Amino acid sequence: MFHQRWRNGVWTEGGFVPHGKIQISPAALGLHYSQAVFEGLKAYRGTSDNVIRLFRPDKNAARLQASCDRLCIPQVSTEYFLEAISALVSLDKKWVPDNRSQSLYLRPILFGSEAHLSVRPARSYEFFIIAAPVSEYFDRAGPGISLRAEDHYTRAAPGGMGAAKTGGNYASTLRATEDGLEKGFDQILWLDSKRHCFIEEAGHMNIFFRIGEKVLTPALTGTILPGVTRDSIITLLDDWGVQTEEKKISIDELKNAMKSGELVEAFGAGTAAVVVPIRRIEHRSTSILIPNLDSNTLCNRLYDELTGIQYGEIADRYNWMTKIC
Ligand SMILES: *Cc1c(COP(=O)(O)O)cnc(C)c1O
Repeated sequence: MFHQRWRNGVWTEGGFVPHGKIQISPAALGLHYSQAVFEGLKAYRGTSDNVIRLFRPDKNAARLQASCDRLCIPQVSTEYFLEAISALVSLDKKWVPDNRSQSLYLRPILFGSEAHLSVRPARSYEFFIIAAPVSEYFDRAGPGISLRAEDHYTRAAPGGMGAAKTGGNYASTLRATEDGLEKGFDQILWLDSKRHCFIEEAGHMNIFFRIGEKVLTPALTGTILPGVTRDSIITLLDDWGVQTEEKKISIDELKNAMKSGELVEAFGAGTAAVVVPIRRIEHRSTSILIPNLDSNTLCNRLYDELTGIQYGEIADRYNWMTKIC
């Protein structure tokens, strides 16, 4: 794993140590006040050329900087971030699986480690990057996931931390997610914090709806995490001539689109899951059942295109991939 320290106002020289336990004070600020941010990206082994590639790591570097800024954590430069990630993957090459549905997941994490109980930004930080081989998060062979639209709890509010990738945003989702799992749902459909009527995210994924000829996704209003997968999907759809729109989407709009038969697809998107079809959304006593189309869905096309680029099978026409030496 990679480890770098922030001490006395500067980042010290980073380096690699065997993956293992670390020593921190139980008074570390990051543990108590959640001054911690993270990232998630993957390294893929090319199916035919065996070349290892990262998908848009510059976007993760930029988002980590934005998250750091929101939580008063010192930033890591894009250049340094890319260098550290690339060097770690290069060292851990043999851990990158050669199966097309697997990859090496990379998890950078940055947190306040100063032992102090005052509520203020820490004066010392640790930056780690750990890695682990993973499979895709959801079973793609299934009929699609079911979501429970959350009517009580909220993930993020305007002015909050919803756009930052920070543990606090995950802690706030656990209660609702556990309750949903108990009732047989796979994930929560998060709604806006004020009125619980506008759609925000599907669990820890961005969400897309194909309604009529258009593909809609919630606009980035500050309460939604700006996903790299989300951005890539919008780029691909634009290129394919599929009209996309980033806007406020209400649960009523969805119900109406279901009634009129215009709602033909819904899917979640994120690094862990790539894209995953959504089969059912339950809101209060109404169940929105999304038709199970043949395999010719935009979701499937996006999956093939994204993974095709990631595994080096399709030309990297957007310059998204970074090769690891
Ligand atoms: C990380 C994350 C996503 C997906 O972002 P990607 O960059 O596509 O992996 C979506 N929602 C939340 C809340 C997240 O933390």
